[in-house]
Amino acid sequence: MNYGRLIQKQREYFMSGATLPRAAREDVLRRFGRAISGRRESIIKALHADIGKSEGESLMLEIGPVMDGLRHTLENLGRWMRPATVPSPPPLQPGISRVYCEPLGVALIMAPWNYPFQLCFLPLLTAVSAGNCVLLKPSPETPRVVEVMRECLEAVFPPHYVALAEGGVSEAAALLRLRFDAILYTGSARVGRIIMRAAARHLTPVCLELGGKSPVLVMKDADLPLAAKRTAWGKILNAGQTCIAPDYVMADEKVRDEFTGLLNKFFTEMLGPDPLGNPDYARIISEAAFERLAAMAPAGTRTDKAARKMAPTAFAADAGHPSMREEIFGPLLPVLSFNKAEDALESIRAQEKPLAFYVFTEDKAFARRALSRVSSGGACVNDVLLHAASADMPFGGVGGSGMGRYHGRRGFEFFSNIKSVLHQSTGVDALFRYPPFSPETMAMLRGPGC
Ligand code: NAD
Repeated sequence: MNYGRLIQKQREYFMSGATLPRAAREDVLRRFGRAISGRRESIIKALHADIGKSEGESLMLEIGPVMDGLRHTLENLGRWMRPATVPSPPPLQPGISRVYCEPLGVALIMAPWNYPFQLCFLPLLTAVSAGNCVLLKPSPETPRVVEVMRECLEAVFPPHYVALAEGGVSEAAALLRLRFDAILYTGSARVGRIIMRAAARHLTPVCLELGGKSPVLVMKDADLPLAAKRTAWGKILNAGQTCIAPDYVMADEKVRDEFTGLLNKFFTEMLGPDPLGNPDYARIISEAAFERLAAMAPAGTRTDKAARKMAPTAFAADAGHPSMREEIFGPLLPVLSFNKAEDALESIRAQEKPLAFYVFTEDKAFARRALSRVSSGGACVNDVLLHAASADMPFGGVGGSGMGRYHGRRGFEFFSNIKSVLHQSTGVDALFRYPPFSPETMAMLRGPGC
């Protein structure tokens, strides 16, 4: 495929203005929604075939967020597109100051395999809602999902509007040599750096949705059973292969053992006594990923190498444990202990800023302090993951976990040029700006001071 030519065609289509009118954007978004709804069963089947995802998880975390995103966007697009009139300071008066969102042009969206449907289509619908053309590059690890996504796209968009690029690293590298007007990348920090370097050549803005070690801080005053139940839920989804999954726990030493026991109890309650045989429990994506996890798993972790399944396992560990050296991205959950909360906060602060930070406590003042001490992309108090489930909450990372935000309006803004325009009057011409400056003008420019 000659992507250079395809992108040229997309640019021409964009320049024609066809993607601009609100009615046109709403029309494609509605048809896109129908194309997805009509293929719901195929999407669920493909997700199961590619990564062993259950129907429930597929509805809740793949199709659901995309349909919610479409609904939210259709409800708000008019408001987002409307230029905002802002106050004009005296020197600009009687001009009118407005802020416009104009589309950037041709966007590249690159996504990983772990939520292959959501992480392709949510950014895609956002880029389209902002009036852009899109080249979408999904992960090659989920070919059946890619096939259904292709059907959905072809039912609505001609390739000069939205096109799908398949392939692995070499195709991705070739794409990255081309010029785009925006890139939204979801995946590892290692590849994130490659993306940013490539984008720098063309000064293309990037939104990097990366990962990292998202900690769970458990205070001894927390509702321990509920904290363990919610944390266990956040870990078993997609067998821990979730960017904002609880990566490790830091529990007060007085409750660490109890909490670890509760986590394992809830794993069993949710997946049954034989999680490896549970068809609703996802498998590990590849043999290499399985081996990487097996190397850091504590003795006794139940695994099925042939089926690439690993039972969710919480275990007491310290900071030197191999699982603490990198993002786990699997169903293992080390539980560290602390004696003083301040030490726990310091040890979290000493690492890369995480994508998510979770704190379980009944003490609201402590929760506020913890949130103000730990910088993270997002956070939950007394829950996990769900901060990512609201279209009104911007989503993204900070530092090592990424940059830029999307979901809802923030996504619309990422794919837009935010343009400030002064509509000046020709009826009045304030003379003070022109030299030579009179003593009165000079006095005015000096101002009263701050
Ligand atoms: P990955 O970086 O290996 O792959 C993601 C995409 O990059 C794929 O489309 C892949 O084809 C492409 N790619 C891979 N190597 C490349 C290269 N050398 N040059 C150009 N493109 C390349 O990521 P992954 O393993 O698929 O995903 C796991 C990571 O993604 C984890 O760190 C996880 O936390 C993170 N993640 C983040 C989010 C988020 O929303 N922040 C969501 C899901 C996953």
